[in-house]
This record gives sequence, structure tokens and C-alpha cells, in this order.
Amino acid sequence: MKRSSPTPAETNANDWMDCLRSHGLRATTASLAVVRCLSRSDQPLTHAELGLAVEEADARAVERVTLYRVLERLIAAGLVLRYPGPDGTARFGMPKAQAIGHFECNRCHRIIELSKAVVPPKVLEHLSRQLQGQGIASGELSLAITGTCSQCSAAGHAEPMVVMARPRRAR
Ligand SMILES: [Zn+2]
Repeated sequence: MKRSSPTPAETNANDWMDCLRSHGLRATTASLAVVRCLSRSDQPLTHAELGLAVEEADARAVERVTLYRVLERLIAAGLVLRYPGPDGTARFGMPKAQAIGHFECNRCHRIIELSKAVVPPKVLEHLSRQLQGQGIASGELSLAITGTCSQCSAAGHAEPMVVMARPRRAR
């Protein structure tokens, strides 16, 4: 009998189950809900936003403590990135394969992933050499840039851009 075509949510669930297991994690209801919500969101979410998204998607709340534990495990496995916001509020998102870092607007906290395509390799080489010159052994770098996005600039707010480079976490 031909199986009715799965909904995108079903397909996703199976893929994520495999993905979690291949990273040595248990595919619990909570961890599946978290990766699905984060993968659907085009913006990294705060802990509170993520809690709401999971509750909406699964029609049931996840305890705050559980959510923190799940996030910790996903971060340790390299599946989720923690973006330390300039406002002191961390946001969580799934890194794109081609992302070299991210930009966060100081004002509206919009996060824009920076793909390798927009950062010339020479810039990264230069940064790596600078760090090595200061005795910091850096492999691949990850960039975190803060400043003012175009929308906030247009609204009359402007703050200087700050670029931070740090060694990319080993997977
Ligand atoms: Zn902004």
C-alpha cells in the first residue's frame, strides 16, 4: 500500500532524530522540539522565545530547566550556537554550514549570518596572523560583529561597528 506522503513536520522529525543520534545525543521529545523550532526560525531565539515556540509547536510547555539542559547538550555537540548578545541576553540558533560568523544589531538585536562568501579569505588570514602574532594559536576563526543594522540606522540610530574574532570551536 502506498503510504500517504509525509507532512514536512514528519519528514523533519525523522531527519532530526538521525541527526541527534549521529551526534551522540538521545532523541528526546524536548530535544527534537528544540532543534525543529530552531531550524524553522530564521532568527536565533532567546530562551524565553524558544520556550514559547516549543510550546506552540507541541501544544505543551517544556520546563525551563529541561530547556536549559537540552540547549547545553546541543551546544556541546555543536548543533546549536549560543550568540552572546550585547544586551546580555543570549540567543540560540543553528549555524548554517557556510556561516563564518554573525552580525548582531545593538539596537533591535537582529542577527544576520555572515556567509563565507561575504568575508574575503584575506581578511580571515590577516586576523589569524594577528592572533598568532600575539601568541594565540587560532585555527579557523569565527567572527562576531556588532553595530547598527540598516533599518535602525535609517531610524537615526548609529553606533560604531565592533568586530570580534575568536577561534571556531572544534566540533
Ligand atoms: Zn537594528
